[in-house]
Amino acid sequence: MSDVSAQSATANIPQSHSLASYTTLRLGGPAQRVISAVNQDEIIRFVREAEERREPLLLLAGGSNVVIGDDGFAGSVLLIRSRGTEQLPADPAEPDQVTVRVQAGEPWDEFVAGTVAAGLSGLECLSGIPGSAGATPIQNVGAYGQEVAETVAAVEAYDRSTGAVTRMTAGECDFAYRSSVFRHSDRYVVLSVDFRLTRSPLSAPVRYAELARKLGVEVGDRVPLAQARDAVRALRAGKGMVLDPDDPDTRSAGSFFTNPVLDAAGWVRLRERAGEAGEPPHWPLPDGRVKVSAAWLIDKSGFGKGYRSGGAAISGKHTLALTNRDAHSTAELIALAREIRDGVRERFGVTLHPEPILINCVI
Ligand SMILES: Cc1cc2nc3c(=O)[nH]c(=O)nc-3n(C[C@H](O)[C@H](O)[C@H](O)COP(=O)(O)OP(=O)(O)OC[C@H]3O[C@@H](n4cnc5c(N)ncnc54)[C@H](O)[C@@H]3O)c2cc1C
Repeated sequence: MSDVSAQSATANIPQSHSLASYTTLRLGGPAQRVISAVNQDEIIRFVREAEERREPLLLLAGGSNVVIGDDGFAGSVLLIRSRGTEQLPADPAEPDQVTVRVQAGEPWDEFVAGTVAAGLSGLECLSGIPGSAGATPIQNVGAYGQEVAETVAAVEAYDRSTGAVTRMTAGECDFAYRSSVFRHSDRYVVLSVDFRLTRSPLSAPVRYAELARKLGVEVGDRVPLAQARDAVRALRAGKGMVLDPDDPDTRSAGSFFTNPVLDAAGWVRLRERAGEAGEPPHWPLPDGRVKVSAAWLIDKSGFGKGYRSGGAAISGKHTLALTNRDAHSTAELIALAREIRDGVRERFGVTLHPEPILINCVI
């Protein structure tokens, strides 16, 4: 398990350290240098120093959303280990609203647990997601009917193009499904995130049918915050989606593929092609497009839970998670990902795209 709180002081980590130990997949070659920063000043100083040296720089926090190639990274890796949360002064006009600022390196699930314990509603369905708070805006982390786009009030980031610290509103973050202005760009280094939460003993309305069933309530109902958190964590654990060093099904980067989003014509073609397999589970989007279950496409293309290729395998608990069973290289995982992508394309004519950030490797 990659522990985002592991480093407590700035340290040059010996060159021999392969990056595998910093990722939840436990894969990835070496870097020239690995250093950790424990506060905003250190983060900014290290980024500037790397730029002055014209050195490629990779930011890593929990390492739970990256696939690093076997050649590693030809440059420096900066581990984001800044910690801390603070409640900002409330606006007297909105006494029920609370803004909480969290430093980028704070372990996400610890932060969520703290908001639940403090009676703050808005993040409870995002319980159990690994990684750091600062990485949540990058791909607009989401699960069980919530995504951070709904509660991010502002992101404080170091803008590498101007060399200045900037505050970005949620609108400026350009959030979309598993996407934001931060993704696939190294312009911004997230320093802290402000979440606007609601003072309430109850969760936000439950939107996800599976979660509502688990809780024994109807979609749209609210439940005590701790109950929502516990139910989400239990559902996630059953799918190998809570990190557990004793469970090889969790040695993954979470969902390996995003759910494909099809235009109207693409959706009609897919339904025709699905034929006897039945109608793919799908979610209509407000703009007329349709989001389709990647897990269903994978399963119906012949890649069921536990499907194995070399040292990599589909999780025994969740079709979307590719896991490292006893892979000695990232290449083994990539080979499995390619096989699945090509198989789905052949069966359904739909191309799946990886959700994690691929570093120095391609599928
Ligand atoms: C078992 C499991 C379950 C998961 N479940 C979910 C889920 O339900 N929903 C979901 O959305 N995701 C899920 N994920 C994916 C992952 O946990 C999230 O994307 C998480 O936010 C990544 O955080 P991290 O700190 O590990 O990021 P890393 O993996 O360290 O980094 C991810 C990317 O963000 C960049 N980055 C990291 N920190 C910063 C920063 N401060 N500033 C700028 N860039 C930065 C990195 O350079 C990299 O490109 C899951 C992963 C695993 C392993």
